[in-house]
Amino acid sequence: MFKPKGIYYEKAIEDYELGKQLLEKYKDVPKVVIENHNNIEEMRKKQNSEFADMKRNLIIGVRKTHKFVENHKTSDYLVPYTSSGCTAMCMYCYLVCNYNKCAYLRLFVNREQMLEKIIKTAQKSEKQLTFEIGSNSDLILENSITGNLVWTIENFANTSKGFLTLPTKFDMVDDILPLQHNGKIIIRMSVNPEEIINKVEFGTSRLKGRIQAINKLVESGYKIGILIAPVILVENWKELYTELIQRLSQELSHKAKKEAFFEIIFMTYSYVHTKINEEAFPNAINLYDQEKMTGRGRGKYGYKEKNRIDAEIYLRVQMQKYFPQNKIEYIV
Ligand code: SF4
Repeated sequence: MFKPKGIYYEKAIEDYELGKQLLEKYKDVPKVVIENHNNIEEMRKKQNSEFADMKRNLIIGVRKTHKFVENHKTSDYLVPYTSSGCTAMCMYCYLVCNYNKCAYLRLFVNREQMLEKIIKTAQKSEKQLTFEIGSNSDLILENSITGNLVWTIENFANTSKGFLTLPTKFDMVDDILPLQHNGKIIIRMSVNPEEIINKVEFGTSRLKGRIQAINKLVESGYKIGILIAPVILVENWKELYTELIQRLSQELSHKAKKEAFFEIIFMTYSYVHTKINEEAFPNAINLYDQEKMTGRGRGKYGYKEKNRIDAEIYLRVQMQKYFPQNKIEYIV
């Protein structure tokens, strides 16, 4: 259970029910009132080496921008929702590209406003839209602090149109299992080999817990996706990812194996990650591989075409062997 070291909050949260609840829940935690959750000078001035300590804080505010971004993968829109950032510290976390060292967890208390916009957009559309509500944070983790995912499912499941989807690396799904979700929620569990979780995905759930969570969610009728992501081409990647796929095949329930779809995503990395990781985690492995990676513009790196294609072919063969019936939505 995450217990914040300090809370930085905008005074306006006192006007919201969730804001009041959180202030009460953490009444014993030291607090600082801030003007704007996007610009906390004290945090901006901290060193990269303090990254892990910064993640122990909780920032609470009111979300001001509500712009939906069109998406063409597993959803129609990426939607800014009830949180951004995270308490975990995956060394490749895409949020670090957006927020730099300030990728700590921010909670937004105006959830009614955000969900209402989703519901209205869904009702107005002629087709069934899918909204990605977890592209800025991990909502299973966030739910363990706010109960927001339970609240969201309870308030969305009975609306007439649309689906919500979210990815996660956490196994704390028990609170949402008994809910009447009416098949409108799609949860995509992200998995990686145990060795990579241990060495790179600090503060997330173990692989065993994630697999058990998939089985429980499927049993409760949720639509499930499995993200093998991000694929990291470490020295022994073939062995590690083969073991991972075998393990999924052995430990997923029959129902999960029958129903789950897959997404496979290769790691992208950046100069910002390199700087923060070498100062914050000096003993950790270096994810930047000069031999296998190349620049992708604006300080970003991805795997060279040849390395990526070789790996894609290899992974498709393994998937065909162990999950021949399951759809792979995409490999990128
Ligand atoms: S769990 Fe997701 S949001 Fe959290 S640090 Fe890892 S990649 Fe980032």
